[in-house]
Amino acid sequence: MKDTSNKGTTTKLVEYASKLINLNMYWRRKSKKLVIAIVCLNKPNTSEKTSEYIWVAGINVEVSIAAGSLCAERNAISSAVTQYPQLQKQDFVEIAVAEFNTKTLELQPIQPCCLCGDWLRKLWGETWQDNVFTV
Ligand SMILES: [Zn+2]
Repeated sequence: MKDTSNKGTTTKLVEYASKLINLNMYWRRKSKKLVIAIVCLNKPNTSEKTSEYIWVAGINVEVSIAAGSLCAERNAISSAVTQYPQLQKQDFVEIAVAEFNTKTLELQPIQPCCLCGDWLRKLWGETWQDNVFTV
């Protein structure tokens, strides 16, 4: 896991965190943690060429059921595919992930869990950790 993305993904993560200060904790009632992930994608073919990349955010959602919770990383990936169904696997460039403490407003590094690691391995192969950034 690396510190800073030269594509701006960690910067997008910090910007997104500022929108989550008053987030309802119902959705985090298991771990009480708020995890943010931002996935960086190659911009789909559109007429607007203001940036080479686009970013989609995800946060952890915990409903306390036996099937488990949805991690921020998998939520970001799923949201990206939902938002841009034409995406190809190779359009996924990198992901940034961090835990956001809504009391201190600090972002802290966090590693993807084993299940998210399996998802990221499907995208980027055995070197998937080269595509994972934190703050
Ligand atoms: Zn996970």
